Formats: sequence, C-alpha cells, structure tokens
Amino acid sequence: MLNECMYDNFDRKENLHFDSKCVHGALGYEPITGAVSFPIFQTATFAHKDFSTATGYYYSRLQNPTRQELERTMAILENGANGFAFSSGQAANMAVFGMLPKGSHVLLTDDIYGGTFRIANDIFSQLDITFEYIDMSDIRDVEAAIKENTKMIFVETPTNPMMKVADIEAIAKLAHDHGATFVVDNTFLTPYFQKPLDLGADIVVHSGTKYLCGHNDVIAGIVVVKSEELVPHFEMQLKSRGAGLAPMDSWLILRGLKTLALRMERHNENSYKVAHWLRNHPKVKKVYYAGFEDHMNYAITKKQTTGFSGMISFELESHEAVEKLLTTVQMILFAESLGGTETLVTYPLTQTHESTPPDVREKLGINDRFVRISIGIENVEDIINDLDQALA
Ligand SMILES: *Cc1c(COP(=O)(O)O)cnc(C)c1O
Repeated sequence: MLNECMYDNFDRKENLHFDSKCVHGALGYEPITGAVSFPIFQTATFAHKDFSTATGYYYSRLQNPTRQELERTMAILENGANGFAFSSGQAANMAVFGMLPKGSHVLLTDDIYGGTFRIANDIFSQLDITFEYIDMSDIRDVEAAIKENTKMIFVETPTNPMMKVADIEAIAKLAHDHGATFVVDNTFLTPYFQKPLDLGADIVVHSGTKYLCGHNDVIAGIVVVKSEELVPHFEMQLKSRGAGLAPMDSWLILRGLKTLALRMERHNENSYKVAHWLRNHPKVKKVYYAGFEDHMNYAITKKQTTGFSGMISFELESHEAVEKLLTTVQMILFAESLGGTETLVTYPLTQTHESTPPDVREKLGINDRFVRISIGIENVEDIINDLDQALA
C-alpha cells in the first residue's frame, strides 16, 4: 500500500508561458519544507513506514525525487506524458533502440551524431536489426526507403553537422501510416524552439549535456514520450539497464533549465550574427546554418521552429587554415560538445563524427576543411573578433 505522498501531485502549469514553466518546473519548490530550490535527494534507498506502507519511493535506480522532478519538468516542456532521465544522451538512445524487436529495420538521418551511429552499428546490428541512413530532408527519399519491417524512424533536425532540416509533421504521418515509431533527437533546438511531440513524433530524445544543461558541466540524457503506452518500456530500461541520472546531476540540469529560455534567445541572436559575418568572410568557402533565408529547407524550418539555436558549420579553403583556426582561437575553446555558455569550436572529422564511415562523411562534406562551431552566450563582438584574428 502507498502512503499518500506529497510529491504525487504536480502541476503541469498549463496556464503559464514556456519560460515560466522552465523556472517553476513540476513541483517547483519542495512542498514539505517550502525549500525554493528543489532538494538533491542524495539517497540510495527509502525506508518503509511499516510492513505494508511505502512512500512511493523504494530505491533510487527505480525512482528518486530529484530525478523525478527533472523528468516531470521535461515532460511539461516537451508536452509529453512522461519523461525519463539517463546518465548520458547515449544511455537515453540505448533505451530508445531497446524498443526494437529482433529483425526490424530502422531509418536514420544520414549525418546522425557519431555516437548514435555507433549504438546502431556496433551494438544493435548484432541483434539482427538493420539500419539505413538517408537524407531526411527529402520526404520522397524517406517514403521510398520504408520497408515492411521498418519499425522506427529516427531523425535529428537540424542535423549535426550539415544543418539539414527534416519535415517532422510529414515524417510523422509516413511513420504512422506504416506502423513505425517516430523518434526525434531534439538536442539542437530544445523545446524552446521546437516541440516534436506536438508535430506528431512519438518520442523525443536529448543529449541533456548540451542546451538543457547549458553550462558544459554535466553529462545527461532525456527521453520524453507522447503517450502513456510507452512509459513501461522506459521504466523497465531504467530499472534493468540501471543508467538513470544521479540526483546531483538531475539537480544541475533542473538548475540549467531555469534559464533555458534566456540562454536560447542569446544563442540564437549571437549565431544569427556570426553566421552572416562568416558568410561574408573571404576565407570562408561555405557556411551551413539553418537560419539562412536561402537555406534549402528554410520553409520547413519556418513552419516547425521558432528559432535556429546556436549551431553553425563552415568550410575553409584548406586544412592548414582549419588547424590555424583551431589552435589560435583565444576566448573560444577548441573542444567537443555544444550548447553551453562558452563558444566551442569542433573538428567533426576526428571528434564528433569519427565513427561515421569515410565514404558517408565524404559524401556529406565532412572533410578536413570542415569545422563546427557552437555559439555561446558571450558578447557577440568578442566571438567575431576572436574568429577574425584566428582566420586572418
Ligand atoms: C552529444 C549528442 C548525443 C550524445 O549525448 P551524450 O550526452 O554525449 O551521451 C546524441 N545526440 C546528439 C545530437 C548529440 O549532440
């Protein structure tokens, strides 16, 4: 029997705007003591009141109040039935792919994050599951690739690092007409700019390490499901694979989320300026940015998102120019990852996309002249000045 728990009833805050929901979370404050900062329940287990009464919490691998506050907050922000917090984006994706029955076929974005490719190719392909990588920005290619046994369509949009955009509503319809689960990796835009579940996706997955956390200080993953039907699978994944997010890390993501709206606005504003500046730089050959009005998928972007986030990729004239850029930036850091307060410049060929097969990389344009930049929230003049001296 369960004791009535003070944490059972949380408010979805339907009447609030998105930025207020970010600040006030699910329970928001702690209802017993009134602590405004939701506590870090640093405990492995929970004592039972008597032989037949529990509090609703048993063991932190299964459920922990701090992790639950984060999971519920993410469910509110993505408009889903429930959320699940994992120890990394990779662990979240492992749980998503864990839904696939033996012998199934999966369609993925061709320039998918290298780690997701590795999960598919190194782990799940052993279970007689086949993966096909296609350009999701053309709906005809998606339709043509669907097979009898296609059980899942997994997209990133915009893609990493080529910034291609997929039509979420159109793919959702295709997926559902063929009985496939539709998953969107929403790491790049976050629910502040894009809400895939509202557009028809079944599952949203995040590397919480990136914009949700926002401060380059935690590794985390989030899954949000649209319907209650998908809840038992993810509860089982947390319970059995045991990759739930720790209480302290859950708290850090909750803390990051409070400023999500503010940060995303600034990332968006800064990157818009940097992308246009880069485009006019004589040493920059090509700039990939979803916010350009002449981007081939701009009409879709306008239909389904309210901003472009802080991600830009670009190609220089030579590999030497790339090496010079990466080693002479001063304020900007040469590091993997994205979505944090600091501007980071990354070399996808050997960092984020080293697992992508060489022929696929070459076809996509991920070569030794190609760099990706995650624009932070610094003063945009300092970002531009730093790039200017490093490109000179
Ligand atoms: C970083 C990233 C991941 C992996 O997440 P981790 O938190 O590093 O495990 C997955 N997908 C995308 C789009 C990412 O950027």
